[in-house]
Amino acid sequence: MNIDFKELANTYGTPLYVYDFDAMAKSYNALKEAFSGQKSLIAYAVKANSNLSVIEHFASMGAGADCVSIGEVKRAMSAGVEPYRIIFSGVGKRDDEIQEALNRDILMINLESDAEMKRVEMIASKMNKEARISIRVNPDVDPKTHPYISTGLHENKFGVDIDTAKRMYIYAKNSKHLDPVGIHFHIGSQLTDIEPIKEASVIVADLVRSLSAIDIDIKFFDIGGGIGIKYEDEVTIDPQDYANAIKNAIKGLDVTIVCEPGRYLTANAGYLLTKVLYEKVNGNKRFVIIDAAMNDLIRPSLYKAYHKIELLDKKEDSDTSKADLVGPICESGDFLAKDIELPATEHGDLIVVYSAGAYGFTMASNYNTRGKVAEVACEGGECRLIRDRESFEDQIRLEKAYLKNARS
Ligand SMILES: *Cc1c(COP(=O)(O)O)cnc(C)c1O
Repeated sequence: MNIDFKELANTYGTPLYVYDFDAMAKSYNALKEAFSGQKSLIAYAVKANSNLSVIEHFASMGAGADCVSIGEVKRAMSAGVEPYRIIFSGVGKRDDEIQEALNRDILMINLESDAEMKRVEMIASKMNKEARISIRVNPDVDPKTHPYISTGLHENKFGVDIDTAKRMYIYAKNSKHLDPVGIHFHIGSQLTDIEPIKEASVIVADLVRSLSAIDIDIKFFDIGGGIGIKYEDEVTIDPQDYANAIKNAIKGLDVTIVCEPGRYLTANAGYLLTKVLYEKVNGNKRFVIIDAAMNDLIRPSLYKAYHKIELLDKKEDSDTSKADLVGPICESGDFLAKDIELPATEHGDLIVVYSAGAYGFTMASNYNTRGKVAEVACEGGECRLIRDRESFEDQIRLEKAYLKNARS
């Protein structure tokens, strides 16, 4: 990676998201190659980073898209993902979203409950269509990750248990308006232990075999996303071990493996650039106040997530002391790092926040009427703006029309 952060900060200002498209391609290719010898589709989980250029980048390498709202489906199609490579997941799809997904003829709608199946059937029948569906199975294995991002236990809201899934498949098979083509599980995010994935894929593959015995032939074995990445010193899953575990589980089955990585493809390819505004000491606590905040990157506030921090203008041999890196937002929870060793900083010093390419910009908000920051993509030594910095006017555009005594 040879990205000139200083130059980017000068050109585009801060805070700024910067994405390394070469690094994204490298991760994509490593995973795709790991599945070689097997039919596979990598459906990029758009929610991790849904900038159109990012989606387009993966689409150009042959990726599909895993979407969790009709908005994401539209994004994927706008970015050039073929409809037959798009999956629509999520626990709460509205009627209009289901209808639109059927209209667009995407690969499959991923069902998360019996009630949702009936709804999809009804809408498909009104449209005189047959909906291709998969069912999200909750294999009840503990993914051993953060409880907020763990999804594969019965206590979570996601998917249905094995017996319910079986009943649903039989129902779908007998319905004129449902075509059960896939099976799906996704046990959690930031998985660093391969055992729960092995366990889950064996359980779900067994279900596919028992379905096959009653003439229900599953074509797509969708293993979800969740491959963890290294934020700090995590030992992560090797893509080849991951692919081998799945290949072993599905031995003898004629299925296409669908994989839905988000974080794995984008997190470590993204950086948040921010500048120091001030330093201050309250009692004996040191704060470095920066121009980025929890509205730009909420992971530290939301999950106490760790992001590596680098001070680019670090003076040689300078003494360090502990400091909290905090933003300007009026919340005590507004921090990007706590108790990290930093040398003395000055106004304007540039800081790089690492591993910010996934669940960074997509979770950003306008809290405190802060505009969303700009995004830049770098590829082969060239960088280009892929989203403008949001202006004040952008932010109030939808409110202005309703002012009672509008100012001109
Ligand atoms: C969030 C999500 C993903 C992506 O998760 P990552 O941890 O970013 O890989 C994939 N599939 C489904 C259904 C999801 O909800």
